[in-house]
Amino acid sequence: MTVLVASDLDRTLIYSANALALAGPDAEAPRLLCVEVYESRPLSYLTETAARLLAELGDAAVFVPTTTRTREQYRRISLPGPAPAYAICANGGHLLVDGETDHDWHASVTARLAAECAPLSEVRAHLERTADPVWTRKHRVAEDLFAYLVVERELLPEEWVKELAVWAENRGWTVSLQGRKIYAVPKPLTKSAAMREVARRTGADLTLAAGDSLLDADLLLAADRSWRPGHGELADADWTAPGVTALPERGVVAGEEILREFLKAANPPG
Ligand SMILES: [Mg+2]
Repeated sequence: MTVLVASDLDRTLIYSANALALAGPDAEAPRLLCVEVYESRPLSYLTETAARLLAELGDAAVFVPTTTRTREQYRRISLPGPAPAYAICANGGHLLVDGETDHDWHASVTARLAAECAPLSEVRAHLERTADPVWTRKHRVAEDLFAYLVVERELLPEEWVKELAVWAENRGWTVSLQGRKIYAVPKPLTKSAAMREVARRTGADLTLAAGDSLLDADLLLAADRSWRPGHGELADADWTAPGVTALPERGVVAGEEILREFLKAANPPG
């Protein structure tokens, strides 16, 4: 049986220092493994136990990192376990096969975007016009596919985010707020479409998924079974659906629990 595991990375399997949410006495905190260095500083972690479980999962299933990160941002991450044969980057806009970009897949995605939603240029212009420099740190475009802002979260007006979401919705785009980043992503640009493509190519009999943000909702719905942590946009919205398990764990220990669930589902007893 071929089991495909498509999992979001940030705040699902790997965590920045700010997202770890370690609770309890320091002396009892789990030991952490740094899996990403950015500008010579440690950036993302998982627990040592999660690292071991992830390596095990790589042997038990086709593990597909499924991220909104650009290819460049993804390549900074050094996960334990065998190198994944497939990785989904740019929220489904890029499929890496043995680490190399699949250009045919990318062309099929850009054709869909051109046909089905407002162009990136219109969204960028709107963000430039309406995002207040008082709380906007950076305007970014990812892989020429979608845009995001880096913001001062404490100063960000909730109302502005709501208005942006409505404006975007009318143009076929989705807004997602994750930590210090506000993403504007075309609705047809999905992790689930890319996961289905990998499932087709690998002949997967069972698909498992996990994710924490609104951009993961379609992925969780598309998989046979899925999990979300007790933190993040989906948890904040109390989001659930048939086949989706809402875990109570928050922060980096949730990543460990998700990997345990993946392994249990990929290696059923008996
Ligand atoms: Mg995430």
